Amino acid sequence: MQTQINSGTLYIVATPIGNLGDISQRALDILSQVDIIACEDTRHTQKLLTAYSIKNRTMSMHDHNERQRQEQIAELLQQGKSIALVSDAGTPLISDPGFHLVRHCRQLGLPVSPIPGACAAISALSVAGLPTDRFTFEGFLPSKSGARQTKLSELLDESRTMVFYDAPRRAIDTIEDIVKVLGGDRYVVIARELTKTFETVHSDSAINLLSWLQEDPNQLKGEMVLIISGALVKEHDISANVERSLKLLLKELPPKKACAITAEIFQVNKKDLYELSLTYKK
Ligand code: SAM
Repeated sequence: MQTQINSGTLYIVATPIGNLGDISQRALDILSQVDIIACEDTRHTQKLLTAYSIKNRTMSMHDHNERQRQEQIAELLQQGKSIALVSDAGTPLISDPGFHLVRHCRQLGLPVSPIPGACAAISALSVAGLPTDRFTFEGFLPSKSGARQTKLSELLDESRTMVFYDAPRRAIDTIEDIVKVLGGDRYVVIARELTKTFETVHSDSAINLLSWLQEDPNQLKGEMVLIISGALVKEHDISANVERSLKLLLKELPPKKACAITAEIFQVNKKDLYELSLTYKK
């Protein structure tokens, strides 16, 4: 199938997260045919281009020059040039540069078109075996333990599956914090080196996962995605914040309405709240 390049368009092109084979024909066509490829790291992208014998002009666009580059890129697009944006791996903008550029182009009414492909978070979710109907992507956890524990405690009652990027060299400290804040029973999945030679997907309770990591230093190498199962909201396991809101609403509204609103806000089970509200009357 012939890929058509539109002039004046910014293409957001996903590239592999490890295995160089994970790139679409359309992505290769776009990378060959655009006027310029804006890269997070030109040397890194050059390896991909060489592997596919693509010879094209590149320019750097990373966290430190994005604001300056966005003006330049917008001008080139307005002149009718077509430009591809790539990051070092996976989908640009997902914990990678590009947000300011895309927002700027959209504000100017310039066409921005996705060329979908690999993303570490989605690849990890697809093999984790945890609910994926609803999930939250939390990006990188803070590197310092105090800030990390604060972040995790904010997520204590999160009932959706939670996806994080983390450095394996910090994995032991991170899992220790998960045990401290979310409890040793919380189910965690580590998806490491996806699509690469040492790909490993391992899941267990946080406490067992900690022993597993401590016993095998090889698991502390490469790149990893961490997935934490959402909190189970059961009867009598309702957080103080949910209870406080429920009690306030019960003063103003009939029990059914108060429970329905609280359930919607905190994404907890309406029936559990109703049963709880009955215990207040007693
Ligand atoms: N934009 C990328 C994407 O679409 O996934 C993410 C870029 S972010 C700077 C890099 C992080 O993604 C790594 O620190 C790691 O957490 C995760 N990652 C990237 N490649 C991976 C892989 N092959 N296996 C596991 N995690 C990976």
